[in-house]
Amino acid sequence: MSLTLYNTLTRRKEPFQPIDPNNVRMYVCGPTVYDYAHIGNARPVIVFDVLFRLLRHAYGADRVTYVRNITDVDDKINARAAQEYPELALNEAIRRVTSATEKQFHEDIAALGVLPPTVEPRATEHIEEMKRLCDQLVERGHAYVAEGHVLFHVASMQDYGQLSNRSTDEMEAGARVEVAPYKRDPMDFVLWKPSKPGEPAWPSPCGIDVAGRPGWHIECSAMAEKHLGPVFDIHGGGIDLVFPHHENEIAQSRCAHGTPVMANVWMHNGFLQVEGEKMSKSLGNFITINQLLATKSFGASEWHGRVVRLAMLGTHYRQPIDWTAERLVQARATLTEFAKLVQGASNDGAPNAEVVAALSDDLNTPSVLSIIHGLAKSARRNADQAAEFSATLRFLGLLDGETPAELNVGVASADVDGAKVAELIAARSAARKARDFKEGDRIRDELVAMGVQLKDAKDPKTGEIVTTWELMA
Ligand code: AMP
Ligand code: ZN
Repeated sequence: MSLTLYNTLTRRKEPFQPIDPNNVRMYVCGPTVYDYAHIGNARPVIVFDVLFRLLRHAYGADRVTYVRNITDVDDKINARAAQEYPELALNEAIRRVTSATEKQFHEDIAALGVLPPTVEPRATEHIEEMKRLCDQLVERGHAYVAEGHVLFHVASMQDYGQLSNRSTDEMEAGARVEVAPYKRDPMDFVLWKPSKPGEPAWPSPCGIDVAGRPGWHIECSAMAEKHLGPVFDIHGGGIDLVFPHHENEIAQSRCAHGTPVMANVWMHNGFLQVEGEKMSKSLGNFITINQLLATKSFGASEWHGRVVRLAMLGTHYRQPIDWTAERLVQARATLTEFAKLVQGASNDGAPNAEVVAALSDDLNTPSVLSIIHGLAKSARRNADQAAEFSATLRFLGLLDGETPAELNVGVASADVDGAKVAELIAARSAARKARDFKEGDRIRDELVAMGVQLKDAKDPKTGEIVTTWELMA
């Protein structure tokens, strides 16, 4: 099988050549566990799960090591812990916040059909490895100690900035916003810093006599080295991590180990936005995976995790994705149809070769979906094809024995109540007349979630907007 992947480092698609085909190694930056994961966070989890499945298929299930970490040392965690449990000692409060968040994260992503990674290291369990990296970087002249901090000296690395392809001027301008007085250079970044009283603290490296804690970037360099070695095959994460996080991981790991690369292939998923807007708490469109699965969201009362997964895979991983009610409704209709076709079929066989080939072309999931629509057609005509179709859906993590009814969780009935639809359309028209387009869109989404598609047309005589509706296919 030939696998081609887009490499952010070289800015082109390249044939994938593992360093050791008997142990293909991938690292993906995992969540910072202080709050529910949102649906944007679900994107890298799903995308790299698809890649993990493909690699297991190509090289053998026990010949792929997938490491996805848990970041449990972070200022945001400290702040959340202090706010949530003011009566507890900070370390105990942190333990509660991180363990509850981690448990929730695992439940949420399991529902999305995501396989557990091979190793899920926690930052707090790799402090010794982080300290050793700090020591090595100082010994090799790439880092220095200042006022209890260990700082990476960016100017010590000739080809810093290759991944993000930024000019030093651009990076300096960005870094100069708030320059700490102890930095030799504005671009230098923290490897280790002193802890304030009450904050989590460990004995410091590099002969520093006050207790401290690691910076964010060094955590991933240490966990990747421990579980995958100094050089490995694939490193992934969301596009927002390219700079500074991944750039700095590369600087730390390469300079500590004296290697030409940290990972051969760097992969980044595009961003997810909601109904055309950046997802943010202040805009009120911030949606957690858990809300999607367990509460009323996007019109329906709940969405099945496999439906969410299919909705996510409808867009190629490098493109931005716009998360809408319509996307979910379509995914639900499609998956329900598929579930009907494979009911009772065996799913132990091999996945369809064309699907594997499309996936091997830089995870071309839109193409995969059009192929499986074709497979669905043949499975409908020929029961013999149902087994391969079923095995393919299982391979993609889209269906694993779910019934059509289970996928329609939260949908009261397939029959649409016409009077209710008319009432909602009238309410939407009134909202739009009052220029409350947000409410208008909300009502449209509610209708879409019921499987109702609206059509607005101008009456040529009166100039009024007339809304008609039909059931979605
Ligand atoms: P964080 O917990 O913020 O470090 O994010 C965990 C992962 O989710 C990282 O790989 C981020 O790049 C990714 N991520 C965060 N927000 C989004 C978004 N809106 N769309 C896609 N990926 C995201
Ligand atoms: Zn990372």
